[in-house]
Amino acid sequence: MILYVFKMNPEAKQLYDSITEKKELMWSYSRQITILTEDIRKMRKMLYKTCEHEWVRDWEDRDERSSWICKHCKLSRNPYHN
Ligand SMILES: [Zn+2]
Repeated sequence: MILYVFKMNPEAKQLYDSITEKKELMWSYSRQITILTEDIRKMRKMLYKTCEHEWVRDWEDRDERSSWICKHCKLSRNPYHN
């Protein structure tokens, strides 16, 4: 079997390496976002139990299900919507 090895031109190689580097960054950021999202989810649960809520009507919310929010912590009165 004969292998033909073609060398990538330097400009293309640089672009290719740059793309690879950015892909790795994206992977790393998306992993961090997953971790942060999970942290926030847990903290909102704790906040729901910790805050001495004062429920007010949420006029900005167009969704009927969660029309009350706490004026301090901004969480929904329905714990399943936070
Ligand atoms: Zn609250």
